[in-house]
Amino acid sequence: LIAFDPAIDKLSAEQRFIHRELPRAITAHELEVHYQPIVSSSGGAFVGVEALLRWTHATQGPISPAAFIPVAEQMGLMDSLGTFVLRKALQDAKRWPDLYVAVNLSPLQVRDRGIIDIVRAALSESAVPPSRLMLEITEGVLIDNPDEMIRRIEDLHALGVCVALDDFGSGYSNLSYLQRFPLDKLKIDRSFVTALGQSGNGGVIIQAIVALGRALGLSITVEGVETEQQRVILKLAGCDELQGFLFARPAPAKAIERLIKQSKPAAP
Ligand code: C2E
Ligand code: MG
Ligand code: MG
Repeated sequence: LIAFDPAIDKLSAEQRFIHRELPRAITAHELEVHYQPIVSSSGGAFVGVEALLRWTHATQGPISPAAFIPVAEQMGLMDSLGTFVLRKALQDAKRWPDLYVAVNLSPLQVRDRGIIDIVRAALSESAVPPSRLMLEITEGVLIDNPDEMIRRIEDLHALGVCVALDDFGSGYSNLSYLQRFPLDKLKIDRSFVTALGQSGNGGVIIQAIVALGRALGLSITVEGVETEQQRVILKLAGCDELQGFLFARPAPAKAIERLIKQSKPAAP
């Protein structure tokens, strides 16, 4: 007997499919963590990687995290899934000891005070130095509960990890809020990059965000860099780090490890 659940009734066909299949997929280990390199805008060396969840369904093929993560949150699966990503990312981080690893935290994970213990445990289990872990959070979660989030970021800093604001500019972008939060980094949303080169847009908005970030002492990463022209504009605008298909697509740990090793000049 399947009880009527109004929350499920509102879902789209794709979401229903995800709702039905996700628990099985998790048990069947269909979900994996891939990594996308992040490069320094001056010189182009790899400086970090971002961990990105991947689900390849046995018959449907790849399903986007943008589609299944909201459903996972709704089903209460995101805590365990988030912890899985964090632990896996820290284990894999040993493959690239000179780079940091960025892990996305879902709003529910950040709202839960227990995240501090989860991060602490994952760090000690992996023995990766905390300074090599960058946690990415989104604007919405900060704005909903600013005072608690300031404390949460301070607690994360006390563990020695860094905190980045992801998708900056895609949502509320309440600039006066920004200086209240003790962040380390801004990740400028891909939409600003897409707009570059269109109708004489030479990156003035990105330059303004960089100036703002600098004034607040933040490092600036831009995501979604796909062309050489965009790379040049973003470098000139003063962005510190770049991420995008121009440099590398997200890939399994093994492939990323190989890519990073190849990029290094052979030892003398
Ligand atoms: P995000 O954290 O902003 O991650 C960057 C997204 O941009 C990734 O999409 C990446 O594949 C994509 N991307 C990178 N470079 C380019 C480019 O040059 N062009 C284009 N068109 N796209 C590019 P992906 O992997 O589909 O992830 C989408 C979102 O799902 C992520 O956005 C993040 O919000 C969420 N997500 C992924 N993995 C996790 C996770 O482990 N935990 C949580 N909470 N969220 C995750
Ligand atoms: Mg991210
Ligand atoms: Mg982003």
